[in-house]
Amino acid sequence: MAKIAVRHLTKSYNSGKVIALEDVSFEVQPYESFCILGPSGCGKTTLLRHIGGALKPTSGHIKVDGQILHELDQEGLYEMRRKMGMLFQFGALFTDMSVYDNVAFQMREHTDLPEELIHDLVMMKLHAVGLRGTHDLMPSELSGGMARRVALARTVALDPMLIMYDEPFAGLDPISLTVVGDLIRRLNDALGATSVIVTHDVQESLKIVDYIYFVADGVIVAEGTPDEIQASDKSFVRQFVHGEMDGPVPFHYPGGDYRTDLGVTA
Ligand code: ADP
Ligand code: MG
Repeated sequence: MAKIAVRHLTKSYNSGKVIALEDVSFEVQPYESFCILGPSGCGKTTLLRHIGGALKPTSGHIKVDGQILHELDQEGLYEMRRKMGMLFQFGALFTDMSVYDNVAFQMREHTDLPEELIHDLVMMKLHAVGLRGTHDLMPSELSGGMARRVALARTVALDPMLIMYDEPFAGLDPISLTVVGDLIRRLNDALGATSVIVTHDVQESLKIVDYIYFVADGVIVAEGTPDEIQASDKSFVRQFVHGEMDGPVPFHYPGGDYRTDLGVTA
């Protein structure tokens, strides 16, 4: 479990030209699972990487279990990150390593456990994601859904108290998507961890998290439990939940004048 507090977090890139997050504040309770929803480019990955201690805020701070992340020294940050699991966006496996070695990777990097114990732990983690028989396979032999489940096993290899998922549903077929969603919920509950899911998949998230934050243009524009979000009459939320084409989220990426693009000169 983990207690996370984000306070007035602002992050800009390219010497202030891109403001990815602007004055974001929220707090979560231990044991909670929550998700951060929003369109592409709204700052979700940036926010998650701050919570994981991989990025330093331009201003503001993130506290995990009472400690301000960017004030930790090298050793403190390493300790903190040992307690965190991260499923990266496009959660790729190491393609030149077997399933077994992929799951064992974290344990070998971060612990001095003897190989027999690592073996048992790898088997337990693969069992937890329903893939015990796959340990000798290479990633190229797995379906997309199976690969994502191996990545989940690797993410929870060290029994993290804080698990972060960046777009865990991206590119999955509907059945794999349900399996992965269900696994995320079950792993979280079994570990007594806190899960943070960053996604643009509203329907799946509504089924598995306790609380939802909507981010747009770097600020939180709505929040609530799945029931509250379903019932919301905010146009931004409705567009997301009900997949309406016309709403505050633009369909077109901002571009130059369309007539110019088409070569219309008159
Ligand atoms: P999301 O995950 O919601 O798609 P990101 O956090 O990846 O959003 O990006 C938010 C904004 O910050 C985008 O405009 C993106 O182009 C910009 N951005 C992200 N990372 C960098 C970076 N390393 N350098 C410059 N701009 C970045
Ligand atoms: Mg992202």
